[in-house]
Amino acid sequence: MAEMPFVDTDIEDKFIMHTTSEITIKKKRKRTTGKEIEEDSERKKKKKKQYQPNYFISLPITNPEITRSIQAVQDAVIQKDQRFSKAMVHSGSLHVTMFVMHLSNKEEISIAVGALSDSKDFVEDLLKGKTVDLSFQGIDHFKNEVGFVKLAENDHTAILREIAETMKKIFQEKGILAGEERAFKPHLTFMKLSKSTPLRKQVKKIDPSLYEDFKSHYFGNEILHRLDLCSMLKKKQPNGYYYCESSIVFGEKHAAEPDDAELVSLSKRLVENAVLKAVQQYLEETQNKTRQTDGSPVKTEEAASGSKNESDNDNSK
Ligand code: C5P
Repeated sequence: MAEMPFVDTDIEDKFIMHTTSEITIKKKRKRTTGKEIEEDSERKKKKKKQYQPNYFISLPITNPEITRSIQAVQDAVIQKDQRFSKAMVHSGSLHVTMFVMHLSNKEEISIAVGALSDSKDFVEDLLKGKTVDLSFQGIDHFKNEVGFVKLAENDHTAILREIAETMKKIFQEKGILAGEERAFKPHLTFMKLSKSTPLRKQVKKIDPSLYEDFKSHYFGNEILHRLDLCSMLKKKQPNGYYYCESSIVFGEKHAAEPDDAELVSLSKRLVENAVLKAVQQYLEETQNKTRQTDGSPVKTEEAASGSKNESDNDNSK
């Protein structure tokens, strides 16, 4: 994803979606010539810019093992060619893009926030209680301009594809211009030339020999836990991650609902307290009787609570 100063370059190569008006322009172009073609082409460029993606659904990388391995390959590339330091993706912003979209104003942002929230139930239905465990291994590239870590193809990536497709439809049904023409290819970008315009002018390709030592390297696994609606353009967070309008979290228990272990511990404490109270009462009664018979002093409250603490300690063993 783009860093702020180079956003235009990055967005340009990310977005290949055709709008209805572009198709109209295409048809019209067949019947026109000369100046009209130029004007059409200008209009087409303007339209394309107008609908460039500025938001995306991100699956954030949170496993430090992956982050560390990515840093290792980035360091290895930089060591071979210092110029590529400007092409590296910051460890805090590592993510898998589920799909991109264009949101024109606050109203569309709020529609997208609603679509993301609606997606949660659909995704959970797809998951059926299972986790999506993504395995990152090996390196590949897009046109030698983007270097990325691959996801091992298995049942988990198949579910990820289904999730991306289902969510994209939910967004589209709400009128959001979401998705691209090209097929979804889940990947984890660690470097791209579009991060730096000067670099892009200077270097046309990333030579695969720069990362050959990591060609089949295992980078780690990431469990799908959260999906974020992120802005490509808004200022990033201090940790380097994108500005998020909203997120959905999977497999999270609600704070108000105690789990089984908490319920067991709670009932244990209630039983202990009841037993202690009964023992305390019994002790007080027997001592009162003893005092009445031999004239010795009554046991104080403090002493009684001392015996309570001992009982607590015993029970915690
Ligand atoms: O989404 P992400 O930030 O990882 O994308 C990095 C770059 O890879 C973007 O510039 C995007 O256009 C490009 N890309 C591509 N082909 C794909 C997916 C992404 O060229 N199938």
